[in-house]
Amino acid sequence: MIVREGKSVFKGVAIGSIFVYRKAEKAVNKVEIEDTAAELARFEAAKEKAMEQLKGLYEKARVDVGEEEAMIFDVHQMLLDDLDYNESITGIIENDKMNAEYAVFMTGEQMAAMFLSMEDDYMRGRAADIHDISDRLISILNGTQVSPEAMPEPVIIVAEDLAPSETVQFDKSKLLAIVTQKGSANSHTAILARTMNIPSLVTTDIEIEQQYHGRQAIVDGFAGLIYIDPDEATLEKLTKKKKKADEQRALLQEMKGKETVTKGGKHIHLYSNIGGVGDVDAVLENDSEGIGLFRSEFLYLGCDDYPSEEVQFEAYKTVLSRMEGKKVIIRTLDIGADKQIDYFDLPKEDNPALGYRAIRICLTRKEVFKTQLRALFRASAFGTLGIMFPMIISVKEIEQIKEIVEEVKLELAREDVPVGEVELGIMIETPAAAVTSDLLAPHVDFFSIGTNDLSQYTLAIDRQNQSLDNFFDPHHEAILRLIQMTIENAHKYGAWCGICGELGADEELTAKFVQMGIDELSVSPGYTLELRKRIREC
Ligand code: PEP
Ligand code: MG
Repeated sequence: MIVREGKSVFKGVAIGSIFVYRKAEKAVNKVEIEDTAAELARFEAAKEKAMEQLKGLYEKARVDVGEEEAMIFDVHQMLLDDLDYNESITGIIENDKMNAEYAVFMTGEQMAAMFLSMEDDYMRGRAADIHDISDRLISILNGTQVSPEAMPEPVIIVAEDLAPSETVQFDKSKLLAIVTQKGSANSHTAILARTMNIPSLVTTDIEIEQQYHGRQAIVDGFAGLIYIDPDEATLEKLTKKKKKADEQRALLQEMKGKETVTKGGKHIHLYSNIGGVGDVDAVLENDSEGIGLFRSEFLYLGCDDYPSEEVQFEAYKTVLSRMEGKKVIIRTLDIGADKQIDYFDLPKEDNPALGYRAIRICLTRKEVFKTQLRALFRASAFGTLGIMFPMIISVKEIEQIKEIVEEVKLELAREDVPVGEVELGIMIETPAAAVTSDLLAPHVDFFSIGTNDLSQYTLAIDRQNQSLDNFFDPHHEAILRLIQMTIENAHKYGAWCGICGELGADEELTAKFVQMGIDELSVSPGYTLELRKRIREC
């Protein structure tokens, strides 16, 4: 039995076989061939298979995460059919008499280099796509493809790390658990696992070895452990633990339809955090009362160029319509720092977490901001919308935002576009905002405390830096005092106050938050029922 330890980002026990997910093997052998016709046929067959896979991925992504994020697989299909790309490959096979893998590899390298040398950011971005389709073809040709579509049954994914574009490929019904060597509690993988209610470990000291593929394992999301080839006693113990966890989860189903109210009769709005249209299913399944944080930047992260007003409008409208009048709070673009997007062409910074990010980008790139606000206000006619702005530090910023909001509303009114009533709020995620929350509150309808950033800025501990874990105390008195101060100031000026950072789901603090007077908690959908139970016990 092999035991490896990681940091648990979602509780639960999963028992099943391991699926080692690795990026396609890149190394290719250069082999001279004689039968060029046979080699061309091999290439054509691989291309056909790749095309089939891409079509499947497009459909799957469209259903799971929406049209705009699925577009990338459409682009890949076009590139795969590109005349220059194909002529170069077949030319190397026919004229140089080289094997198909080598022909694809060389063509991929040459075309990617050509794209990278271009001025235009969009074209430079195509280099990664060329690499992606070439890797796909090579791994089909040399038989090393370990594709998520090939997962035969529900499995425990073991990977070095997973990029958002990779997690999107998995058939969610076939995931038992996710274990990664890298990643952090706030990584996209962790968010996905929480949304899906499956145990997940990050920063695990596990080797990503092919020999683990198919072997039996147990992931204990309570203890942060993965057992490979568990012995009889461990299997028995963890099977019992799983049974108990399953029973508890089943019991939690009883919480569906119940009010989120404390014993003292105070109603707490229990909302969900989402990253895309596809997460609405989990919100509804877990009987959440609304959406307290839609991280809209994931729409931008899933595109190769600025998402148009129309693309954004469709996404926001879909979420609002599906929530049927329940509150949906959409946060405007929060990029910069760890969330970099090539086509924004942001300057390199020595200290990006304290740099040009979030509202600072929106206030200086007004056209980008206005496109998003137009899409949001247009969508507001289809449900109950709240808009919130990230990384605020001053009243001046709120005034500037409101000026732009008024411009947008006026434009839409002139165009006879209907808009609904929209609440405007800000995230309290800088110490400056918390300390001056008495000055900010009169200007907004609500505050939502972003404890992930508020903690990193208050404690001066980079939230991405795993090596500082021992210094990090999420319950630090400084953070709790800032939360208390923010709630009190919100109430003093008639605003409501919620928490949408990860701390909102920390059950050790639930009673304290209730005591402090919190009005709303917005958490990953998978935490909803458990938190409702906890609140009802307060
Ligand atoms: C936060 O900072 O707490 C927050 C909710 O926003 P994000 O995690 O997206 O920075
Ligand atoms: Mg934040």
